[in-house]
Amino acid sequence: MRTIETDVLVVGAGPAGSMAAKYAALGGARTLLIEKRQEIGSPVRCGEGVSRSWMEECGVKPDPRWIANQVEGARIYAPNGACMIVNEKQAGNEVGIVLERDQFDKALAEQAIKAGADVLLKTYASNITRSNGTVTGITGKTLGEDLEVKAKVVIGADGFESQVGRWAGLHTGLKTRDVDATLQYRLANIDCDRRYCDFYLGSIAPGGYIWVFPKGEDVANVGIGVQLSQLQGKADTRSLLDRWIARQPGLAKGKPLDIVAGAVSTCKPLPKTVTGGLMLVGDAARLIDPITGGGIANGCISGKLAGEVAAQALQAGDVSPQFLHKYERAWRARMEKTLLRNWMAKEKLVKLSDDVFNRIIATLAEVNLPHLTTYTLLKAVQEKHPELVKELAELLTEP
Ligand SMILES: Cc1cc2nc3c(=O)[nH]c(=O)nc-3n(C[C@H](O)[C@H](O)[C@H](O)COP(=O)(O)OP(=O)(O)OC[C@H]3O[C@@H](n4cnc5c(N)ncnc54)[C@H](O)[C@@H]3O)c2cc1C
Repeated sequence: MRTIETDVLVVGAGPAGSMAAKYAALGGARTLLIEKRQEIGSPVRCGEGVSRSWMEECGVKPDPRWIANQVEGARIYAPNGACMIVNEKQAGNEVGIVLERDQFDKALAEQAIKAGADVLLKTYASNITRSNGTVTGITGKTLGEDLEVKAKVVIGADGFESQVGRWAGLHTGLKTRDVDATLQYRLANIDCDRRYCDFYLGSIAPGGYIWVFPKGEDVANVGIGVQLSQLQGKADTRSLLDRWIARQPGLAKGKPLDIVAGAVSTCKPLPKTVTGGLMLVGDAARLIDPITGGGIANGCISGKLAGEVAAQALQAGDVSPQFLHKYERAWRARMEKTLLRNWMAKEKLVKLSDDVFNRIIATLAEVNLPHLTTYTLLKAVQEKHPELVKELAELLTEP
């Protein structure tokens, strides 16, 4: 049995975990980041689309090492083929850069290491340890050897399949209507327009959408997300995506370089992401945007906030739940309103017919919105077709 003592233990070296480790270490805490896989960032399970808007806030400088493609905007397609073009300034969240995600994750881990964090690969947590109801560390394995890590603060950054929160008694369970099952090919030998990330809406992807995120002239991530509660069978995502690709002249000739399946949460913000000695960040805290399914930005922002609070708690000699709640207040102030609004919008969007999507996109294609949010989109539709958004009245109050 190997035993390690540290101030801050971060479980999971995805973007959220590396950010948390970086900021905990920068704040002077002895920090250990553990990752169950043998290589940070690999295998990639991601569409790799991300905006630049949050990067400065998190101390992330765009780097050619992890930028596969810089896009000008997004094209959103209605079921009838009508298209609305959104530039990066308007869109904020999902467009901007198509990443080399494996390199991106490694670069963030490098930042954590440079800040002073220690890293153990092929090291996983299999349970937490507690004393008087407070989380005091984990047990698990490192390179096959039994491991115990004793920590003053644990940060759960273990992604969508997170167990850390559940072990600590936090309710992170999801309803099937708040999960999208995803499948993605990286397709080579295709024709795509590398200037745009494309989104296709409607019954081709029930409760979700199909995306084409170009990595270059002739390679793109082509994927589908379908609301789990609307899936007919296990192979449904694949058959829906395959059928759609076969109908796209520029894509049908493509061959896959890889195939990934996964899931994203599309739930409303959790009531609690902190308990004695523990904070959850990123996908583990269910901070994915419920409309886009994008979670890298919120993962990084929440990781930074948790890392900072962990360091402050140690400096103050106070790791009580009251102190750690500072983190919960900080992420809520930063993103809760948007997450809640987008969840409410998602609840409505998953029920729309193709006809309504066609009318909404046709309307939006005609207006030039300076800034695109759920609110401004719905407001623009309301002005022309109030009947299309009459059920969404609660989303039409000024944010
Ligand atoms: C198909 C697909 C496409 C997506 N496309 C996009 C997109 O285009 N843009 C976007 O912003 N988001 C996208 N997402 C979501 C995005 O990938 C996640 O939101 C993001 O990875 C969250 O980062 P994280 O650090 O919270 O979790 P993760 O990146 O999942 O990292 C968690 C880490 O914890 C490790 N781990 C888990 N359990 C343990 C354990 N017990 N012990 C030690 N280590 C552990 C895992 O190995 C992993 O490395 C997509 C998701 C999927 C599935």
